[in-house]
Amino acid sequence: MTIERIINKFTENHPQEDTTALTLAFEFADMAHRDQTRKSGEPYIQHPLHTAYLLASIKADLSTVAAGLLHDVPEDTSHNLEEIESLFGSEIASLVKGVTKLGTLKYRGIERYRENLKKMFLAMTSDLRVIFIKFCDRLNNLRTIESLTPEKQQRIARETLEIYAPIAGLLGISQLKWQMEDMCFKILYPDEYHELEYKYEVEKKVERNRFFQKVKNIIIPRLIEAGVEYELEVRFKHLYSIYLKMKEKKRKFDEIYDVFALRLIVPTVDDCYKALGIIHTLWKPKSQRFKDYIAVPKPNDYRSLHTTVFGPENKSAEFQIRTREMHEESIYGLAAHWYYKMRPGANASYQQPSWVQEIIDVQKEISDTDELVKKIKMDIFHNRIFVFSPKGDVFELPEKATPIDFAYAVHTNIGNKAAGAIVNDKIGRLDQELKNGDFVDIIIEKKRPYPNLAWLKFAKTKRARDRIKQFSKKSTLTNIKRFIPGIKN
Ligand code: MN
Repeated sequence: MTIERIINKFTENHPQEDTTALTLAFEFADMAHRDQTRKSGEPYIQHPLHTAYLLASIKADLSTVAAGLLHDVPEDTSHNLEEIESLFGSEIASLVKGVTKLGTLKYRGIERYRENLKKMFLAMTSDLRVIFIKFCDRLNNLRTIESLTPEKQQRIARETLEIYAPIAGLLGISQLKWQMEDMCFKILYPDEYHELEYKYEVEKKVERNRFFQKVKNIIIPRLIEAGVEYELEVRFKHLYSIYLKMKEKKRKFDEIYDVFALRLIVPTVDDCYKALGIIHTLWKPKSQRFKDYIAVPKPNDYRSLHTTVFGPENKSAEFQIRTREMHEESIYGLAAHWYYKMRPGANASYQQPSWVQEIIDVQKEISDTDELVKKIKMDIFHNRIFVFSPKGDVFELPEKATPIDFAYAVHTNIGNKAAGAIVNDKIGRLDQELKNGDFVDIIIEKKRPYPNLAWLKFAKTKRARDRIKQFSKKSTLTNIKRFIPGIKN
């Protein structure tokens, strides 16, 4: 890796900006790490260079990329933060400080997990960009992990899978989440990884390309006819998600992976629906598999249209239809939001996840650090828990939330059709209080037509309550009130 490549990458996304600071940060880091090598034997400077390159490729801003170059200087060299501040200013110095303070996060059971989550979130109070640097640092460490002992490799991979990847998911940075997961999968389950890799990359490749060509030949003339500009690509599922699905559903690769995935990127939201119409007139949709995440985004703000159709040769084809902006957001998460916010003419209406905003608000009110930490612990983490889906996705809920809140956080349909819950592999109840770090799986009753109004007695989140009440508005309220007394609107 070279500083020139980093500057080129950065300039792709920020063409107007002066990149002198990047050159200077590189020269300083290069000098500071001069005589150091990594375990693999390569010069140490390669690690901060790669970290900075990753940051540039997720569209991070100038200060973040510069801080990426400098992130190991205070910890590992004779040069300190004061020097960095005097040379590069307070913004870059405070990012480097944030990364240094974050230190190492280790997974040691659920209690430590909570501590680590706190650490991560506290780092966000100084600046969310600190987390991005930490992620890219970790990703490069994973890529160069082979020179470490097998025990150390396993420990780092497990930590990443348990702490870093879920948080990347929480922040919506799926690009980092997937990369980390697949690398950890390879380290932790090498046999399974290589088997899947072979099937996916070698066996299926020819079939995939041939099918894709066929779809293209049919759909492209129709898109052109309708005046919809498009980018059409084959979507590569990441191996770890296929592996989880196989485990979860106890099925073989061919049963899981009998679906070809395609992605269609179009200029506007109107075009998304236009393209959907074209696809549905060409091929019959599978009715259960249509999802409109544009009208109703996922809790982490993911937006897209999903549909699965019986495509050419009657083979299933799964389409994701989205705009370029939605696409970038799905890959780069918050980083893309900033990028789009900063563009001239961009709409600045994006809202951060509520807990990020709360931390920022508290921080504005209180300047004393000890007080601030206390307040955050009491106010934000005291009444906030994080629970996991079977796939390892993280959901943020208020304290005392129940499986019904979780169900609605996952999807309205899962909430509406919830029949029971499995909490930490044991049969649980829909009204039980969830605890931080719980793994929750919702049992669904497919034929259930609507939610149970009695759930209002224990549903804690606004989302769940609104969805349950939505039903009550549609139906004859008086009737229901007769059956379930004590329900207010
Ligand atoms: Mn590092």
